[in-house]
Amino acid sequence: MHNKQERYQYKLNGAVQGVGFRPFVYRLATEHRLSGWVQNSASGVIIEVEGAAVNITSFEKLLQQDKPHNAVINHFVSERLDLGEDQFFKIIESDPTKLLSVSILPDLAVCPDCLAEMNDPTADRHYRYPFINCTNCGPRFTIIKSLPYDRQRTTMATFAMCDECRAEYENPLNRRFHAQPIACLKCGPHLELWDIDGAVVAKHEDALMRALNAVRQGKILALKGLGGFHLIADATNEEVVQKLRKRKCRPRQPFAVMVSSGKESEKYCDVSDDELNLLLSPAAPIVLLRKKPKIKIAKSVAPGNPFLGMMLSYAPLHYLILQELNTPIIATSGNRRDEPICIDEYKVLECLSGIADLFLVHNRPINNGVEDSVVRIMADRDMVLRRGRGYAPLPFTINKKLAKSISSVGGDMKNTVALALADKLIMSPHIGDLNTPQACENHDKMKNMLRDLYETEPDIIACDKHPDYRSSQMAQALFSKVTPVQHHYAHALSCLLDNEIDTPALAVVWDGTGYGDDGTIWGGEFLQITDEGYDRVFHFRSFPLPGGEAAVKTPTRTAFGLLYEAELKRKLGFSSKYAALLEEALNKKINCPLTSSVGRLFDAVAVLTGVSSENSFEGEPAMALEFAAMKSDNTEIYDFELKEDVIAWQKMLEQILDNIDEKVSVCDIARKFHNTLSAIIVSVAKEVDSKRVLLTGGCFQNKLLLENAINTLKIAGFEPYWHYRIPPGDGGIAAGQIMAAIREQKKESQ
Ligand code: ZN
Ligand code: ZN
Ligand code: FE
Repeated sequence: MHNKQERYQYKLNGAVQGVGFRPFVYRLATEHRLSGWVQNSASGVIIEVEGAAVNITSFEKLLQQDKPHNAVINHFVSERLDLGEDQFFKIIESDPTKLLSVSILPDLAVCPDCLAEMNDPTADRHYRYPFINCTNCGPRFTIIKSLPYDRQRTTMATFAMCDECRAEYENPLNRRFHAQPIACLKCGPHLELWDIDGAVVAKHEDALMRALNAVRQGKILALKGLGGFHLIADATNEEVVQKLRKRKCRPRQPFAVMVSSGKESEKYCDVSDDELNLLLSPAAPIVLLRKKPKIKIAKSVAPGNPFLGMMLSYAPLHYLILQELNTPIIATSGNRRDEPICIDEYKVLECLSGIADLFLVHNRPINNGVEDSVVRIMADRDMVLRRGRGYAPLPFTINKKLAKSISSVGGDMKNTVALALADKLIMSPHIGDLNTPQACENHDKMKNMLRDLYETEPDIIACDKHPDYRSSQMAQALFSKVTPVQHHYAHALSCLLDNEIDTPALAVVWDGTGYGDDGTIWGGEFLQITDEGYDRVFHFRSFPLPGGEAAVKTPTRTAFGLLYEAELKRKLGFSSKYAALLEEALNKKINCPLTSSVGRLFDAVAVLTGVSSENSFEGEPAMALEFAAMKSDNTEIYDFELKEDVIAWQKMLEQILDNIDEKVSVCDIARKFHNTLSAIIVSVAKEVDSKRVLLTGGCFQNKLLLENAINTLKIAGFEPYWHYRIPPGDGGIAAGQIMAAIREQKKESQ
């Protein structure tokens, strides 16, 4: 009975829209001589097919096997139906009314087909067209205004397709079939070059060429890209890099470099296969790579840093630029310090005035600003350190169906927000530190955007427990009931979610700062995570930070506080008058909050060993210490003690000071410090007797510390878990807050 007629319905969700899924289904169905239809709905893709049973079986198999490259199917359900009346197979219009549980795709790097066409002089409308795209590539999240993903609900709605584009858009066999941002030289967005007053200097190809000339001559170009503006400059020109540092008030934090190909990246850095795949992936993130010696990239791009953040050109416009320039460029976010990335060509003139010399803009509006993601290969796996373009807002699946929707506002540093509904958790792209009104405004906008896209009014709002966090205060001002979540507990839960594992687990949560339950600053925590909640089983001995926040900015103060606590004396370069003042403040406990933070311990050790005494960007001293330690293969550890629930570091500190006096190399001291921290983790894991050990918090962006800890834990028979798609730093807090709120809900309903 092989030719018996049957009809089936399939419902799929996941990343199935905007990836060429419907044309794929159309081709597959027609090849199998099936009638029926396929439709995008807000709950995913719905397919009905009718035809010979044997053909349907094969169709169903290939549907999952041969799906488009960028598609991800999370759910697949099939149901047998009565025969219908379709004569052909067709693609029917989207239905926006169904329940919203579909994924919004992140923006995808330009595909090889489009690139080839862009470089093909016979491809007329697409030749050298900077906004070329197809169903496999191009903008998605950055242009979407509401769901489902259709042209009229994107910022491309205002561009009327020309006849040729429409023909491609409507032809199921064309690779641009229903490519929502489809555009060409005739009908799509175009380039303009503006001077600092916004006057149009040139258009189209001419604008590009003039902009490139300026870059060659050492000018700083503001470039409107996919998710916002970049500041572009010649990365081999020391003078312009320093000029950019001055104008951006960014003395040392590394700049990212963009090159045109994987091959090009290998000229400047060691690139492993994993790293190359990451560079070439559709997400095309900034990858932290080890620099090669004697490269022509200016020293001040990443001063004192053995690594370089590198990405490949990911938008067609970047390719055009790099092809012509033939030199690596700095591509750093176009913003002022602590402000969000600029996305609007009219606002950018003011926002980047005094920084950029000229502006290469276009008229495809960016609805949702997204920064470049930063990824590093750690312990043979990618770790997303900053989650933006290419990753956000792909959802995470939580292993329960939520009756209510939950939103979270994250923390005040490296902020992201998150939303959970049904069985999905959606994290916003990286928003940044909430230090400016503009950043807070952007935080609000992102929160509303997620809510509007998914058409849900959250029933529960989770925030950090810190009473002074702006994010918490904003949440409290807007909602009568909020769920405050302890900072380090949120880190721990984000790590559980990222690894898809459950309790119990011992969470090693080390970071710079977080509000503790006892009102002190936590950051060197060992939390036992159970179904019930968390228990602070161990923590680093606290020490005072003279001046509080001021100590974070001036790590020498932190070192002063550490020595004070240990009753040790050292000259730290302060004048005796100033030292006396600090000492008096410490004696009287005036603005000297206590901290157990491992991040601050790193700062203090960096100062004592002399590797760094400044904190011009978060983590600068810790990074300097990591780089020093990487140069040593010393395997020794310093002494430490577990006293009740406290990690006593007195002996370690005394031995470090002894080593300094004995003129032991700074690299060895730094290495021994790292080794000791791993040994502490293993000791506590043994003491607590927990098999699973989570390594989370900003300190675990340190590759040496992380890999060291993983190895020592494995050797001792433990199961270490670390981060993957959710950042270990405060970028992951929003996700953890949601998971905490879910646990709260469960408790309340019991
Ligand atoms: Zn393409
Ligand atoms: Zn066109
Ligand atoms: Fe943190």
